Amino acid sequence: MKAIVTLNAGSSSIKFALYELLGDNLRFDAGGKIEEIGTAPRLRARNAEGDIILERDWLHDGGISHEHLLEDLFAWAATQLGDREIVAIGHRIVHGGQNFAAPRLIDDALLEALDALIPLAPLHQPHNLAAVRALRALAPDLPQIACFDTAFHHDLSPLATRLPLPRAFHDQGVRRYGFHGLSYEHIAGRLREADPGRAGGRVIAAHLGNGASMCAMREGKSVDTTMGFTALDGLMMGTRSGALDPGVVLHLQTQVGMSAQEVEALLYKKSGLLGVSGLSSDMRTLHASEAPEAAEAIDLFVRQATRQAAALIPALGGLDGIVFTAGIGENDPVIRARICENLSWLGCGLDAEANARNAGVISAEQSRVVVRVIPTDEEAVIAHHVVDLIKAEGSAFS
Ligand code: ADP
Repeated sequence: MKAIVTLNAGSSSIKFALYELLGDNLRFDAGGKIEEIGTAPRLRARNAEGDIILERDWLHDGGISHEHLLEDLFAWAATQLGDREIVAIGHRIVHGGQNFAAPRLIDDALLEALDALIPLAPLHQPHNLAAVRALRALAPDLPQIACFDTAFHHDLSPLATRLPLPRAFHDQGVRRYGFHGLSYEHIAGRLREADPGRAGGRVIAAHLGNGASMCAMREGKSVDTTMGFTALDGLMMGTRSGALDPGVVLHLQTQVGMSAQEVEALLYKKSGLLGVSGLSSDMRTLHASEAPEAAEAIDLFVRQATRQAAALIPALGGLDGIVFTAGIGENDPVIRARICENLSWLGCGLDAEANARNAGVISAEQSRVVVRVIPTDEEAVIAHHVVDLIKAEGSAFS
């Protein structure tokens, strides 16, 4: 039996999944993630029924590398394979730059071109590519496929990609790209199933996880998005600031005396919910806290999310639907209700009971805007791309 592995290697987590290839169909077999890499890595894997099939903790072993963890993961996977044979690995690669959108078989030239994009996504791209290299060392003949998080936004209008800077910068690649594309692709697919004609019409999809962004979709296509040049723009996030007056960055460097590296760490790792609360980047922890700073962090998260959502409306010319996804979007009725309440002037009203149980449609019957909760599944999107590529370029995989 042929099988496909998907990998999403981030700075502090590695998500993975194994799919069986049944003719043209994929069947999810097992998946999980290694979290808290760098502090106390924890690995959990579940089978298709949701039962935990592997638990492993590396207690406070901050020194263990991504490569070592991947090696352990593959050693375990090898014991689980039985009669399954892995025929390809699909990777989430955060940045495809201006040139790469469609999924591609990774070769030396592509790796080199993706290395050159590291400065555009310094927190994510190096880990994505390190995983590719680690697997090449472990299994040199196994085809690896890159699926780009920027791809869904590749056809944004030229104006939507332009930053108001001198033209030469745009020509050098300093432009808006947009991210979370694999998640939005999944959402667009689900909307097309629900509404084959119009994919929900004019929709704001809100990916609210540790990283958070929104995408304005018209009939399933991205027409605007909140993340721009980097995954730092737009909404306030777990540890990232989101959109910020650029003057703050100048002030921190010229007046406070912070180095560029210190500012980078501040904006990516110490800001957002963590920075404002002084407590945690985790929404559940903030809800459970009685500290006024935790409440203020949540209030600011809601305010910024509403502001960013409203800023997407002109690109859509109105609003027919909102979709919530990712950790907070799928599980947090309070945040969803507060964002929708702030956007009630657009014609969205929630059914409190449906919202409380994370139902598929959470808007009230009389709500003009249909509000949905759609669990994201970036792994499935990657796996399907791998299958499509195998079919299109069969010879490369034989
Ligand atoms: P990542 O971007 O790392 O994939 P996730 O999509 O898993 O992140 O989202 C993580 C966020 O989701 C955290 O802030 C976490 O607190 C939040 N979250 C997860 N489950 C719940 C829940 N039941 N209620 C509120 N927030 C939740």
